[in-house]
Amino acid sequence: MRKLKSICFFLLLIAPLSLLAQNERANPTIQKIRQEEMNNSKVMDIAFHLTEISGPRLTVSPGFTRAANYAVQQLKSWGLTNATLDPWGDFGKGWELQRSYIAMSAPYYKPLIGIPKAWSGGTAGLQSAEVMLVSAKDSAALEAYRGKLGRKIIILERTDAYIQSFQADAERYIDDTLISMANAKPVERGSQDTAALRRRREQFAGQRAALVVPSLLKTMAKNDGAIAILSGSTRSHDGTVFVQGGGAYKTTDPENLLDFVLTIEDYMTIVRLLKTGIPVKLEMDVKAKFTTDDTKGYNVIAEIKGTDKKLKDEVVMLGGHLDSWHGGTGATDNAAGCAIMMEAVRLLQTLGIKPRRTIRIALWSGEEQGLFGSKGYVKKTFGDPATMVLLPAHEKFSSYFNVDNGTGKIRGIYLQGNEAARNLFARWMQPFNDSGAKTVTIANTGGTDHQSFDAIGLPGFQFIQDRIEYNTRTHHSNMDTYDHLIEADLKFNAAIVAAFVYNAAMSDEKVPRKELPKPVASQRGF
Ligand SMILES: [Zn+2]
Repeated sequence: MRKLKSICFFLLLIAPLSLLAQNERANPTIQKIRQEEMNNSKVMDIAFHLTEISGPRLTVSPGFTRAANYAVQQLKSWGLTNATLDPWGDFGKGWELQRSYIAMSAPYYKPLIGIPKAWSGGTAGLQSAEVMLVSAKDSAALEAYRGKLGRKIIILERTDAYIQSFQADAERYIDDTLISMANAKPVERGSQDTAALRRRREQFAGQRAALVVPSLLKTMAKNDGAIAILSGSTRSHDGTVFVQGGGAYKTTDPENLLDFVLTIEDYMTIVRLLKTGIPVKLEMDVKAKFTTDDTKGYNVIAEIKGTDKKLKDEVVMLGGHLDSWHGGTGATDNAAGCAIMMEAVRLLQTLGIKPRRTIRIALWSGEEQGLFGSKGYVKKTFGDPATMVLLPAHEKFSSYFNVDNGTGKIRGIYLQGNEAARNLFARWMQPFNDSGAKTVTIANTGGTDHQSFDAIGLPGFQFIQDRIEYNTRTHHSNMDTYDHLIEADLKFNAAIVAAFVYNAAMSDEKVPRKELPKPVASQRGF
């Protein structure tokens, strides 16, 4: 009897759920969103404009401005309101690479693959100079080189070596991984594995220590009047260069020495020749333009106004960062996310959807230097996480959805510790379950703009995406280009984001929240 009773109870429980599942799957608006995306997608056209037409989109650079202006104009043309470039605060100097040539001229001629770090100075015309190998494990050993670096190109010896890769660049999540993500337990504060934390701390300290000698050498080389400093790209193989910033960029900061990153293969060639006593000469011609006429950072913001009398002042947001590094054209990081977000609002507009809440899209800048654009926006709009003094718009906010993990297909969503949103998101994902998106995990993910919302206690989420070539090939590299985008994945992602935003804008309740965090001074890890 007992058993039968519990089975009956179980049936009672699952019956309404399965009914609901059918309803969600058959929701005509979600079906229309998917059909429009399948048949009339503009997502690749948007991505083309943001990448190959605009160029690299370093914050406060002409490429960023081209892409941002295109986005504003495009959003306006789809009928979004209040489309604007919205300043979030002072960033610093603009920087644009205008020429970059490097080749080996002795012991024989060989073109080299490399890219200057952002905010590097130039060479003042074509220079031909000897490369000097610096072998120094610590700052004391470095002293032997002081005063000898003038007019030289400096290369610091590394102790590691080229490592062949036996892993595929691109992979999709396998079911087992997704199941364990779905079953993950929330991490209680203070319950973390202390041995793992200690290992991570040691690793971090080791990485910091490894940067001391290169940084001292750079200062010494600049003071001595060196032409440039060279390094080999890390996590690099097969001609790929991972390249980010090369120093300070505030208007009061002095110009940085040219800091040039080579592929690991070209770097190793030079080091081996020099260690064998064979002199190496290089030709370099690098021109970089710095601008200080407008040092402010801007986000792109636009809205689809809400129509419900009671709910129209409440807001659902979607976004991704528009700025990129400069080695490629920032296709997977993060034109992909911006194209998905723009396409999602285009879908909603094209279908004539009248949302109950206001839908607001944000394409951030300054993300790569520290989530500056989204932090600045959140601070002026919702409140300051440093003090937790909240503004009235905080109460009227439903949720923020972010995409910033490359071109990979959406497989689910991170709850960011917000268990109360689990059933809601599982339901919203149901129409996409049969296409491989069904995982809702309690886990956190970091490193991007939803954290700015999370920091002030607003529901901010990032989706789980297949890891297509991201860490292995495209993330901050010269290979982050249009061809690395997968059209089918971007289309699918645009439809799922549009569905989430639609559901958040139409449902009776706002997305549930976690407990408000403490002021940021007492938080760690943000
Ligand atoms: Zn990114």
